[in-house]
Amino acid sequence: MSVRISYNRTKIVATLGPASSTPEILEEMIKAGADVFRVNFSHGDYSAVEDVVKHIHDLNRKLGTHVSILGDLQGPKLRIGEVENNGVELKEGAKLTFTSEKVMGNADRVFMTYQQFPRDVKPGENVLIDDGKLVLRVDSTNGKDEVVATVLHGGILSSKKGVNLPNTKISLPCLTEKDLKDLEFALKMDFDWIGLSFVRSGADIIELKHIIKELKADSKARVIAKIEKPEAVLDIENIISETDGLMVARGDLGVEVPMQRVPVIQKMLVKKCREACKPVIIATQMMESMITNITPSRAEVNDVANSVMDGADAVMLSGETSVGKHPHKVVEAMSKIIAQVEEEHSLYYSERPPIFKDPSRFISDNLCYSATQLAKQVNASAIITMTHSGYTAFRVSGYRPRANVFVFTSNYNILTQLNLLWGVRCFYYDKNISTDHTIADIKFILKKNGLISAGDYIINIASIPLSEKGMTNMVKLTEVE
Ligand code: PEP
Repeated sequence: MSVRISYNRTKIVATLGPASSTPEILEEMIKAGADVFRVNFSHGDYSAVEDVVKHIHDLNRKLGTHVSILGDLQGPKLRIGEVENNGVELKEGAKLTFTSEKVMGNADRVFMTYQQFPRDVKPGENVLIDDGKLVLRVDSTNGKDEVVATVLHGGILSSKKGVNLPNTKISLPCLTEKDLKDLEFALKMDFDWIGLSFVRSGADIIELKHIIKELKADSKARVIAKIEKPEAVLDIENIISETDGLMVARGDLGVEVPMQRVPVIQKMLVKKCREACKPVIIATQMMESMITNITPSRAEVNDVANSVMDGADAVMLSGETSVGKHPHKVVEAMSKIIAQVEEEHSLYYSERPPIFKDPSRFISDNLCYSATQLAKQVNASAIITMTHSGYTAFRVSGYRPRANVFVFTSNYNILTQLNLLWGVRCFYYDKNISTDHTIADIKFILKKNGLISAGDYIINIASIPLSEKGMTNMVKLTEVE
């Protein structure tokens, strides 16, 4: 058994890129506290990803860590085509025509990758280009291949910039051709988590899960819904009930909804995910200034700290680690902020008892919650779960106990997957012995590794008999001798 290097409860997701692809830098990032690496399929090629995934697997073996991999699918991202001289100025009040014809763009006419745009859009709706730097309003559409819009806020229109249509009901499927190829690749590489961008409704998640099963029937990959569209915020209950986790994708969200709404939406999403015991990641511009600087701004320190205080499972780094100058220093800085807040702030325990909605999980859900209450009452140092599916880890982590959450499993797939969850530390364990012997053996292993000490109270939860790998039905409180 190996001991994890950092013991922060709140996890760090670090996006990979040219600045973070060598084994040396990856190792430094893991040692600094990276728990999950994100492969952003909007950039990069498969052979580079294959290399980096191999390095991560090698490092997990070398360091005894279980760093997880999240593959982030681009989803139905809209773009304009090439623009002459790689940029033209759009002046306020000017007219711009979006066409389905592949033309070289200029200040009058530009190609739009989204072919159904003239059919889906309505006059009066907004078109935002380049993360909202350019704002246009639709005047008219011919319903076939052209849309005319007026520039409300001008600037330089450059080639292939992203387009956001916050008011338009987009009729594209949730996965593009590119996403399907990327998904197949991610499943072949056994990624732990699949993130989907521009999720609009719970139905998108159902479809993604269905496609995953079609592409790879025995896939264990779990799904993260990226919340960055106003429609997704409206359908959040259904999305949370279908997904395995959520990302507050503040970059696009802040373009699609007025940016001042993002903090309130973020808090609402964290609260709802915690109630549902599903992990939630806070993403984008958390430590942005560290792309170049060696220290974060005070506002960034506050942003990370507040996300930790809200009880997010993870905070994410994007450009900071993918293209930034100091990939491991930014992880280190983030780790220090998390450690400080977790030491000083009482962020533990759900404020009110959960509602157990699923009758088929009634016993195990109650038992997981009771274990966290018992841990609080006796000030236990650890809650130890033995799990094959990982379900109890989601539940116990979701109640944010102060006690350590140690998860023992013989299932390799969940060993890395659960590394995203708040407070969870996983260990591989495959001895086939009786429940009593397993509990004693695990206690011995944890004590030998300094993770529990004599006099500590610890709580075991498991399903008995262990060999049946059924639902959790047992809780046991003991004192470490
Ligand atoms: C975001 O928009 O905040 C986000 C995380 O998505 P991406 O980095 O894929 O643009």
